[in-house]
Amino acid sequence: MANKLKRLPENTSGDFYVDSTCIDCETCQWVAPNSFAQATTTSYVHQQPPNGPDQHRALMALIACPVGAIGTDRKHDIWAAKNSFPEHLEDNVYACGFHAAASFGAASYFIQRPEGNVLIDSPRFAGHLLNKIDAMGGIRWMYLTHKDDIAEHQKFRDRYGCDRIIHEDDLVRGLEDAEMIIRGDQPVILDEGLTIIPVPGHTRGSTCLRYADKFLFTGDHLAWSENSKTLRAFRNVCWFDWSAQTASMERLAEFRFEWVLPGHGQPGNRSASEMAACLEDCIAWMRTK
Ligand code: SF4
Repeated sequence: MANKLKRLPENTSGDFYVDSTCIDCETCQWVAPNSFAQATTTSYVHQQPPNGPDQHRALMALIACPVGAIGTDRKHDIWAAKNSFPEHLEDNVYACGFHAAASFGAASYFIQRPEGNVLIDSPRFAGHLLNKIDAMGGIRWMYLTHKDDIAEHQKFRDRYGCDRIIHEDDLVRGLEDAEMIIRGDQPVILDEGLTIIPVPGHTRGSTCLRYADKFLFTGDHLAWSENSKTLRAFRNVCWFDWSAQTASMERLAEFRFEWVLPGHGQPGNRSASEMAACLEDCIAWMRTK
């Protein structure tokens, strides 16, 4: 819960504020861009949200914030904001919200499908979200893009009996007994329409998940910038090998997709040809770094 005594000086005056416990995960900036923006090493409230849709989005950011760093002076009914998660994106794909501090605030996603639902990376093990997931049919697979975004995987395993999936090169303590371990660098068909694509680079065992030739869940391998309308990778948080990440990106260009659903930053949606062109630009940029 945010503490007004820790309110950051950068916040514009008014009801909503960010406090000094912010870990700069940027979630609030894309959940509610009309209200939150980047300060030097944190987010801050750049504009107080008026009643209506902007305030609803700001309250969704408050719910999504992994460390409870967003507060309000006034008391608000947050039920509607809570109930907006999982947030529908397109078809049967949802953003979970309820980001987990143990995943440094990474986003997680949910695919609802008759053959078995898929949770992508770990949200907070939050009661409200769990009730919604229960109502949506539980979880068949918990797919983990890489070792940094696994947060509360064991609790999800214990509650839903879901198979946890991760690449062998990202097996960390607590995941040695994962139910499905991806090996090598070849794509693996998980189920109809679901392909796991190894993309070593950000970490040695990073993978992406493509669903329905349309949705690409990328973890920290690839992200979308709404400001510049580009795909991007992050040299400064490449923990394994940048040239390997560049080569992985080149292999990814063989796959059609319209959505990029990253661990950090907002989901991006363009036509498949636009995404292909953006990926080409991203690869060209990566080769220069
Ligand atoms: S969501 Fe919370 S922790 Fe993340 S940048 Fe915003 S205020 Fe900071």
